[in-house]
Order: sequence, then structure tokens, then C-alpha cells
Amino acid sequence: MLPYTLSQDADVHCADDEIIFDLDGIQRQFCRLQKEIPELDIRFAIKSCPVNEVLQTLVSAGAGFDAASIAEIKQALAIGGDIQRIHYGNTIKSDKQIAEAHQLGVRDFAADSRDEILAIARFAPGSRVFCRLATDGKGAVYGLSRKFGSSVSALVENLLLARESGLVPAGISVHIGSQQMSDAAWTALFERLGKVGQELQRLGIRLEYINLGGGLPARGYSTKAGEPLRPDLEAILLAIRNGMQNLQQQLKQNLRFILEPGRFLVADFGVIRAHVLRLSQRVQPEGREQHWLFLSCGRFNGLYETDALRYQMIFPGHDSTDTVGCIVAGPTCDSDDVFNDENNLISVPRSLKSGDEVWLLSCGAYSTSYTTVGFNGFKPLKRSFIRDTGTQLAEQTVLVDSARHMQELARWSSLTNIASEKRSQAGNA
Ligand SMILES: *Cc1c(COP(=O)(O)O)cnc(C)c1O
Repeated sequence: MLPYTLSQDADVHCADDEIIFDLDGIQRQFCRLQKEIPELDIRFAIKSCPVNEVLQTLVSAGAGFDAASIAEIKQALAIGGDIQRIHYGNTIKSDKQIAEAHQLGVRDFAADSRDEILAIARFAPGSRVFCRLATDGKGAVYGLSRKFGSSVSALVENLLLARESGLVPAGISVHIGSQQMSDAAWTALFERLGKVGQELQRLGIRLEYINLGGGLPARGYSTKAGEPLRPDLEAILLAIRNGMQNLQQQLKQNLRFILEPGRFLVADFGVIRAHVLRLSQRVQPEGREQHWLFLSCGRFNGLYETDALRYQMIFPGHDSTDTVGCIVAGPTCDSDDVFNDENNLISVPRSLKSGDEVWLLSCGAYSTSYTTVGFNGFKPLKRSFIRDTGTQLAEQTVLVDSARHMQELARWSSLTNIASEKRSQAGNA
């Protein structure tokens, strides 16, 4: 017999971790962006959150989709996406994938090399192609600079080749880097686009559209070192609005503009409810005492982006004045599954006990997609959804004031219970 009785469901708790999406918040975020720049054709980058309920919410709000694979195209179609507003935005595709996408009705394909253009001409004849311009990713948390895109001169050649091959040289695409913090980066990007556009016009190529890619930032993250990442969203949106206007003036033509936000639409509207495995203390090899906080959720089951970001953590019911500086880590036997190091300790309540709840905010992007299927036996997070939130919630989840967070948390909790009831009812039906 065990000498102690576990508190009622201390063990059940950890199997009970979940990611909770605020679908109304996602919808409001989409509508806000659309209202800020009505001319944008907003196509959600599925990879950031390939969750049917989220995609459905976005499609009913008016979103199209940026798909990166056949499976994503099929998923977008299955939830009611309009094939006219789903493009194949990945520059990496096999012949078979191009043919299959074409068969599914996709007519817009990204490319950044001669080889890719020739394959599209062969397996998706007559399609529209948009060629990707390389960017340096400066100002972004995740620059996407080397794997994608070509130089300006190669881009011009690719569009000419597309035209010769019977394709429509329809557009240019870019990605300014994910969680791009700088409005100046957008301004500089539009200036570059202006120069490229003028050169293309000289060669008789009249672009239909510019695909501005993703990169719009979330507001609830900190850097790995704990500095809040608070982008000036107003300035960024203004730079985009002005850039769009100036570019059309410069090229003396109307252009369509596509934007492919991923992170921005979902990040601040997902929270992970996980659990404390243990707050422990040990002597490190160099002889120093160190506190470690082990959580049930880590790098391999939802928090991959702790490689570059820090999420705000809430421990309901604990005194946040008596804290201890910790290295925080996930549950697996992998030494990468660690969020911070001894130079950037994270303060957590000293009173934490095994089985206590922890809430991680702004986890809505790249959590469900960047997850192993069961590394070390830790399963991907369960998903749940809330719809019936007040209008306040979305804004408050991105505030830094912890007292207000605590209040919100109580609301999250009660709403989650409502959501779970609904889910189990739906499951029984
Ligand atoms: C990942 C990706 C996006 C979304 O990027 P965010 O930074 O999450 O907005 C958009 N477009 C393309 C082509 C991508 O690969």
C-alpha cells in the first residue's frame, strides 16, 4: 500500500493537459485585420494551426488559405474553403504533388527556381505562378532567409520563363520573417518591390498581385531572455497600408494584395493548460544549487517555439510574491527540452507542488503543428474550444498585468469547463 493518498486526481491532471482556443478571439482578430486594410485578400497560413475548428472559424469570417501540401489543401477544402482562394504557397513540391493539387483545382502556385517552374508548366499547365523573392529576415524572431526565394535577377528570369512555358506570370511573393517586429522592414520591403515591379514592367510583365506572406507578430511573447516582445502593430499596419498605396502609384496600376498571416491570427488566442510535475532543487556539477521546474508540456508536445520565445506562465492559486528563480523544462528525457538557462532564470512561486496547474499564454500558433506524436510517451495536447467569451478576453490575454491575468484565468477555467461539457455532449450525440 502506498503510504500517502494522492489528492483526488493529481495523476489524471497530467493526462488532462489541453490547448484551448478562443474561437471568437480568432474571429475578431481576423475581422480587425480585414477592417484595418480592407483591400487585403487574407489567406491563413494553415501550418501555424491546422485545426479544423480554427480553419472553419476563419473561413466563415472570410479567409482564404495558404497551403503547403496536398494534405493541407484537402483539409482546407474539407472545411469549406473556396478553391479560388487556396494557393499552393510552398516552393517545395514534387511533380506528383503539383499534378494532384492541379487536379484538386488549385491554380496558383509558388515557385523560386527554373526547375519548379518547368514542373508546374508540365503538371499544372496554364496555371498562375508567383515567384518568391528572398528576404533577409532582419527584425524578425524567425527569419526565413535561406531556404526560400531567389535574387531579384533570378526572380525576373523565372517569371519570364513562366510566360514562355505557357504559365501566367502572375505575382511576386515574399515572407518578411515570422514575428517580424519592425515596421521599417515592411517599408524597405515595399521599396524593393517597387524596383522589381518597374523592371518587370520594362520587360512587359504586368503583375496581377503581390503576395505579402506572413510575419505579422503576436503580442503576448517574450524573448528567451524574458524581454517582452511588444510590436507596434499600428506602425506595422500603417507601413503595409502606405506600402500598398505607394507601390500602385509607382507602378501606375492596380494590384491585388494577398497576406498570409499565421501567427498573428491565432497565437494570442490559444492557451495551454498543463501541470507541474515537480519543482526540485539539486546541486549542479559546478557545485551550485539550482531550482528546476519540470512541466508536463514541453518542446516536444506543444512548446517547440521555446527555442526562441518565452511564454507567460500563470500558476493559479499561488502566491506570486514568494518566488524562486528556475530553469524550466519539459517532461521528456531529452536535454533540448529546456526553456531557459541559468543566465535567464524564470521566477515561479516557491509553493508549487506536483500536480498543480500551469497556464501558458499565447500558445495558439505552431503548437498543434510542431508536436511529436508521442515522444517518450507524451501525447500531443488535447484540444478544446471556447466560443462564448466576452469581448474583453482576447485583449486581456495579451496584457502583462498578472493580477488581471489571474482574473481572466478564473474565467478561462470556468469557460473551459463549459466547453468540456459541450464536448462530451457532442461526443455522446
Ligand atoms: C509560415 C508561412 C506563413 C505564416 O507565417 P507567420 O509568420 O506565422 O505569419 C505565411 N506564408 C508562408 C509561405 C509561410 O511559409
